Amino acid sequence: MPKEDIRLFAKAQKKDYARCLPPSMDCDEEPIRAHSIQNARVLDLIQTDGHVLMPRYKLVKGELLMEFAKVGRNDASTFTGLCSKHDTELFKAIDTNPLDVDKCEHRRQLAYRSVMREMHTELENGERAWAMHEEICKGQKADPNETVTKASLLYVACNKKAHTVYRYRRRHFDKPAEEGKAPDLRHLIIEMDNQKPVLAASSLFSTGFTEQGDIIGPTLNIVPLDENKSVAIISYPAEQTATVKTSLAKVFGADEKTLKYELAKLVIQRVENFVLSPAHHDTWSEDKRSLVLREFEASLAEPKEIPDHADLNIFL
Ligand SMILES: [Zn+2]
Repeated sequence: MPKEDIRLFAKAQKKDYARCLPPSMDCDEEPIRAHSIQNARVLDLIQTDGHVLMPRYKLVKGELLMEFAKVGRNDASTFTGLCSKHDTELFKAIDTNPLDVDKCEHRRQLAYRSVMREMHTELENGERAWAMHEEICKGQKADPNETVTKASLLYVACNKKAHTVYRYRRRHFDKPAEEGKAPDLRHLIIEMDNQKPVLAASSLFSTGFTEQGDIIGPTLNIVPLDENKSVAIISYPAEQTATVKTSLAKVFGADEKTLKYELAKLVIQRVENFVLSPAHHDTWSEDKRSLVLREFEASLAEPKEIPDHADLNIFL
């Protein structure tokens, strides 16, 4: 990226998209910084001295560098896409009780939160792209509404993505709820015994698209339950079962020995909203740190196959 673009990119990253986005989409209340990964129990298990690590770009001597950045637990994984009332209402079951993966409503709320965050993230990325576009136009003394830049095209692309996430949410969650039905979801639940709380994630990603351009894909949540047990839940619409299972065959087909490794690889390839325990990261070699970051960054724009390497197992 040219220096000037990097400066604009860094400046635009400070811009938030703040709007409450409940199922009805008609709320004007002020959004709060809602956690997509629960603070009270989950981040509490992962944090070291009040901090967790998240992958972030950092500006170093005019260059953008991907790193695992220290983030205060109160800011980690937050998004400004819900007001306090809707945040409390929508995730009441999982925020007021310990997570119980046998409960349908718990699994649904976890998945719904991942979808909510993804929709907000795309809207926010669009907002940031537009801020860059306006800065570029200002420099060129051009009318932002009459000018096309790379940033304005990115703005359009992000808004299109946000809309496909909205359609996913509407079809698989909001509409069934309006009709008094439970959403027709399927889940792969991976219980990890003897697993220290080192990693948590909340994400929606696409494994493909329908002919109409709708998202085919699951949500992935990784939740440490206590000092010795974590759980991963992959949730997807029942009608997408065959395609999701085929796309994620390595995870669905993994045996006990390879499961954590395949899951870790999936996180590096497809998930951007995850947190790591700083104390855990401290135990990694320099080589492991740079390999994980390199493969994560390489998969950011477009997911790609990652060559196998034992160091990719970030649960270890
Ligand atoms: Zn609201």
